Amino acid sequence: MKAFTDLEKKEYHNIWVVAEVLSGEIQTVTYELLGVARTLANLKKSEVWVVVMGYNLEEKLKSFFEYGADVVILVDNPVLFGFIDELEAKTIKRLITKYKPEVVICGATSRGRALIPRVAVMTYSGLTADCTGLSIDSENGDLLQTRPAFGGNIMATIRSSHHRPQMATIRPRVMRLPSPDFGRTGRIVKEKVYFGDTKKIKRIISIFHDTETAVNLADAQIIISGGRGMKGPKGFNLLKKFAEKVGGAAVGASRAAVDAGWISYAHQIGQTGQTVQTKVYIACGISGQIQHLVGMQSCDLIIAIDQNPNTPMMQIADIAVVGDVFEIIPEIIKEITTL
Ligand SMILES: Cc1cc2nc3c(=O)[nH]c(=O)nc-3n(C[C@H](O)[C@H](O)[C@H](O)COP(=O)(O)OP(=O)(O)OC[C@H]3O[C@@H](n4cnc5c(N)ncnc54)[C@H](O)[C@@H]3O)c2cc1C
Repeated sequence: MKAFTDLEKKEYHNIWVVAEVLSGEIQTVTYELLGVARTLANLKKSEVWVVVMGYNLEEKLKSFFEYGADVVILVDNPVLFGFIDELEAKTIKRLITKYKPEVVICGATSRGRALIPRVAVMTYSGLTADCTGLSIDSENGDLLQTRPAFGGNIMATIRSSHHRPQMATIRPRVMRLPSPDFGRTGRIVKEKVYFGDTKKIKRIISIFHDTETAVNLADAQIIISGGRGMKGPKGFNLLKKFAEKVGGAAVGASRAAVDAGWISYAHQIGQTGQTVQTKVYIACGISGQIQHLVGMQSCDLIIAIDQNPNTPMMQIADIAVVGDVFEIIPEIIKEITTL
């Protein structure tokens, strides 16, 4: 397909967020995306629109406005309870053709990853997956999409200059959840699901969590995380004891520790593990390579314990404790016990 002319590009306006709806519930990542969409829209002096597809969602639309949306496009139909990627993709494609958004962003969730590449293909648009940052080029208004590349060794900033819309996905907990502005309102546009020639071939009717992956890193307020510096499974037992003493803390790990078999993959944080955004992140014997940092650098307070003061983790930490984890952690546990 030939590149858009400047005139054609000018027909595209506004920043769209595709809402993440699972089993009839709006997922938090939608509000995180609304925060970044609001920032982009303010820079472009345009609007934030949300496309929400599902069933019986009318009652829940208020929250989109409170988190920064100006317009909600509601596609409400019983057939959309569950998820049929072909159907949703065709519907979004139709909406894009009708309303011409300049940017479309979506959660890099299982659903988003199944849905949005289809839409990108249908609209001949560029798509950057798993972005960790989005901004606007002040010179030509392009969306600048930043993500780790080449195994996380560099951060690449990608632009889709020749087509519209520009599309990106972002993992949950990468962007900060904005504060809601209660009482903020906006406009609702109702649209119909587009069936085209789609046959009803599949639908997700239930979602299972297996116990192995049910480590509650996402909801924890505090994560105590260990790396190669913990030396082995015994080191991780020490971290589990530390987490118990702190109360309500979860144990995370670097890939080096997971690859060594000291703890299961469900605990891994980073580019190929989970992304977390906790109040406190305590890194114990983790050097902080970029592939790890991209999974935790948005945590509010980062505490690092390492014998080497010059590691990337020690440099980004709010509190850097230099020393041996096997001396420092037992001391902290002792202090907590005597409190
Ligand atoms: C494609 C790709 C994807 C990746 N994805 C991830 C990912 O998702 N998550 C991830 O974590 N990594 C990932 N990695 C691996 C990453 O590059 C690093 O190799 C890994 O994070 C290093 O783990 P570490 O910090 O535990 O180990 P190291 O880098 O070896 O650091 C160990 C640290 O422990 C300290 N230490 C040692 N002994 C003690 C002691 N007794 N007391 C105090 N400190 C001590 C050392 O000074 C050092 O700073 C990925 C790599 C690639 C190529």
